[in-house]
Amino acid sequence: MHTDLFIGGKYVPAQSGQRFADIEPATEEQIALVAQAAAADVSRAVAAARDAADRGPWPRMTSEQRGKLLGRLADGIERRARELGTLEARDVGKPVSECINHDVARAARNIRFFAAQAETWTQDASFGAAQFLGGGVRLVNLTARAALGAGAIIIPWNSPLMLATWNLGPCLAAGNTCVLKPSELAPLTCLALGEIANEASIPPGVINIVSGMGEAGAALVSHPGVDGVAFTGGVATGRAVMSAAAQSLKRVALELGGKSPNLVFADADLKRSAAGVARSIFRSQGQSCVAGSRLLVERSIADQFIPMVVEEAGRLRIGDPLDDRTEYGPLITAAHRDRVHRFVREAVAEGAQLLAGGKMPEQRRGFYYPPTILDRVAPRSRAVCEEIFGPVLTIERFGDEEEAAAMANAGSYGLAAYLWTSNLERTLRMADRIRTGMVWVNSFFLRDLRTPFGGARSSGLGRQGGRYSLEFWTEPKLVCMTYTEEERDG
Ligand code: NAD
Repeated sequence: MHTDLFIGGKYVPAQSGQRFADIEPATEEQIALVAQAAAADVSRAVAAARDAADRGPWPRMTSEQRGKLLGRLADGIERRARELGTLEARDVGKPVSECINHDVARAARNIRFFAAQAETWTQDASFGAAQFLGGGVRLVNLTARAALGAGAIIIPWNSPLMLATWNLGPCLAAGNTCVLKPSELAPLTCLALGEIANEASIPPGVINIVSGMGEAGAALVSHPGVDGVAFTGGVATGRAVMSAAAQSLKRVALELGGKSPNLVFADADLKRSAAGVARSIFRSQGQSCVAGSRLLVERSIADQFIPMVVEEAGRLRIGDPLDDRTEYGPLITAAHRDRVHRFVREAVAEGAQLLAGGKMPEQRRGFYYPPTILDRVAPRSRAVCEEIFGPVLTIERFGDEEEAAAMANAGSYGLAAYLWTSNLERTLRMADRIRTGMVWVNSFFLRDLRTPFGGARSSGLGRQGGRYSLEFWTEPKLVCMTYTEEERDG
C-alpha cells in the first residue's frame, strides 16, 4: 500500500513529515497514515509536472505513442483489478463487487477510451479556406489543438479511481501532464496509480499525486504553474475553486453535486421503474453525484408504486463491503452518517412519514445507515432541496406533466433526471422541459463515453466525455500563413 506523495516518478513523504489517518468505514479502524501535502509539496509536484510538460518527451510524442503507454497503464489497472477493487472497498466502504466490476473496470476503460479518442480526434485539425488577398497572395489558416501544459485534477472520495481516470485519461491523452489531488477521505487507490504508471513506463513527472486536505487543493488551484483545473466535488468547494482560479485566469471544469429526480408516470413499466428508482438512489449508499434522490410519482399510481420501491429497498443485501455478495455497505465517515441522519430527523419533525430506514443501527461496527424512504415531505424541506449524498429517497406526487416539470426544476441543482414512461412523445416533451445536463429514460447510469457528462445550473460548468473532455484539455491554436502564386508555382 502506498501512502506517500508521488512526485516526479518517486514516492516521497511530505516535506513536513505530516501524515493524516485514513479510516476504514466498515471497521472504524485506521488503515493507513497518509502523507499530508502542504503548499510546499504542491509546489514540488507542480514543478515536476511543469518540467515534464515544458521539457519532457510526453507532449512531444505522437498521440499513438502516448496511446501505447496509456494502454499499458490500463493493462496495469486491469491486472490489479482485485487488489485495487479490494483497496477501494476498504477505503470507501463500497461493495467490493461494485468496485471491481464497475469502478476498476471503468478506470481501465477511461484510460483506453481517451487514448483512442485522442488518436482520431487530433487528426481532425482543420485546414482553413484559402482566399485571394489580391496581388497573387493567398492566405491559409491552420487550426491545431495544443495541449494546455500542466493540469490539476481534484476529486472527491466517492469513486476515486473512476473519477481520477475519467479526468486523467483526456488530460494525458491530449499531451498534458498533471497533478492529481485525491480526497483526504479515500486517497489509497489514487496513490497506487503512481506505481502502475511507473510500470507502464509513463515518463516521470507526467502524473504526480498529492494526498492532503482541502488546503493542498487550494494551493494547487492558485499555483501559477497550473494551466487548467478539473474539479469534481461539492458546490461550495466548486465556487471556491472557480473564484481562486479566476485570480490567475485558469480555465476550470466543475462537476458538482446533484439532487436528481426520478419522474414516474402512470404509463411506465412499474416493476422495472421501481427497481430502477431503488438502484438509482441506493447504489453506493446514495453517495453518488447522479443519485436519484427524489421520487416524483404520478398521483394516480402512487399507492401502488411506492410500496414496490419500499420492497426493492428491503431486498438489498447490507453487509461487509469485502463480501462479494454485499450490495450495500457503510457511509464514508461517522460525521457524514450523522449529517444524513440529521436531514431525516428534521424531515420527520416537519411531518414526513418514514416508510423505510431512518434509524441509526445499534451495536454495529462501521458507519452504516439503512436505505431510507421519506414520504409526504414538505416541498421546502431541506431533505428535498439540498443534496444529502446519502441513502435517502424523498417522495412527492404530481398530477400532470406541467406539475412534474415544475417540481423537477425546483431548486438549484441540474445534474440528471430519470424519466420512467412508455410514451415517446411525453419523453421528448419532458426531456425538453427539464433543466438538467442529462436525462435518462427508463434507464440509469449507463451511457456511451463519447456523450457529454455534466450538470446544468449549480451542478457544474462544462461537460466531460469524448471530445468535450479533449476540448477542455487543449487550446485551439491558429496558425496563419500567406504565400504567393509565384512561390507556389516555383
Ligand atoms: P468536497 O468538495 O468536499 O471535496 C472534493 C475535493 O476538493 C477533495 O479532494 C477536497 O480535499 C478538495 N478541496 C476541498 N477544499 C478545497 C479548496 N478550497 N480548493 C480546492 N480543493 C479543495 O466534496 P466531497 O465531499 O469529497 O464529495 C462529495 C461531492 O462531490 C458531492 O457534492 C457530489 O455530488 C460531488 N460529486 C460530483 C460528481 C460529478 O461528476 N458531478 C461526481 C462525484 C461526486
